[in-house]
Amino acid sequence: MVEPPTPPVDQGLVGIKTLRTGICATDREIISSGFVRPPPGEAYIILGHEMLGEVVEVGQGVSNFSRGDLVVGTVRRGCGKCLSCLNQRSDMCFTGEFKERGVRGLHGYGSEYAVEKPEHLVKVPAELRDVAVLTEPLSISVKAVETALTVQERLKFDGKYPPHAKVLIAGHGPIGTLAAFILSLRDFELYVTGIMEESDAQVQLLKKLGAQYITNRGTHLKDCATELGGFFIIIEAIGHSPIAYELENYLGYNGVLVQTGITLGSSEIHLDSDKAMFRRVDKNQVIVGMVNSNIHHFRKAVGYLKEFKEKYGNLLNQVITHRYPLKDFRQALSNEEKNRVKIVIDFLS
Ligand code: BGC
Repeated sequence: MVEPPTPPVDQGLVGIKTLRTGICATDREIISSGFVRPPPGEAYIILGHEMLGEVVEVGQGVSNFSRGDLVVGTVRRGCGKCLSCLNQRSDMCFTGEFKERGVRGLHGYGSEYAVEKPEHLVKVPAELRDVAVLTEPLSISVKAVETALTVQERLKFDGKYPPHAKVLIAGHGPIGTLAAFILSLRDFELYVTGIMEESDAQVQLLKKLGAQYITNRGTHLKDCATELGGFFIIIEAIGHSPIAYELENYLGYNGVLVQTGITLGSSEIHLDSDKAMFRRVDKNQVIVGMVNSNIHHFRKAVGYLKEFKEKYGNLLNQVITHRYPLKDFRQALSNEEKNRVKIVIDFLS
């Protein structure tokens, strides 16, 4: 815990009071790996890339934000050179010379006050205050689903994806659970796999979304996949690479596997490359990785938060399983909490 100087709200900037930050696997990886990338010339990085804040000051020349607005800031700042970054799509940067707030080369939002340019902020309606800290992880799920559906555009008939096609979400952390919320609004047969017991609260939540739960114990997942004829879409949200690779075996004809997990360790698996290649080519399968999200995904995420609230009431609040006041930040960042989905640090309590 440090006392950084309060940043000045210069011309063209918005001053934000942080209300909440969410903790994710990336924050824990930064801490446990010690792989820290502070802003140039600084000794530390302020964490916090998932946030909800309130505008407390508006710099000269800013007209689209006012005091009291609830806002969420995006994470990545583009290289300023490539076509993606010049078109508000820094999540697809071509040069790798981007920075990320709270992750890579820029301070995050995990301080009581932060400043930001208006173009990196999205407004959130006041009625979403309780869940809006989920906007950033939801924006990642939005991009994961969008990636899968973009690939599967190749299989639209009369402008529609095959109805009741089978979709598997692997993992029930925030990204997996939020992807289940999104996909529950579509005409797919939805499955989620993980290592929980049927009776766990999290499985009950997923069932309320219309998902069927497949326990990944023994050969259960493999048997289910065979029985179902393989999946049309699989979204990997586990972050464990041996399983991320195994999932490719459960794709059906023309299936797509989207991998979202960031894995900094080192693991090895035995892979029969002939069989893997034959299967992929022979069945038109695609494996695609994706990272980060852009402001359009954030805006879409805010729209989804509204839609989830209308359809499922307070169910979304169950995704936030733990809340801590700032003084308990160590506990919030620890790996100790069992049955956690999203842990949130509340800056006001
Ligand atoms: C964040 C992304 C970021 C990625 C890699 C994730 O936790 O949600 O925005 O790009 O980490 O740094």
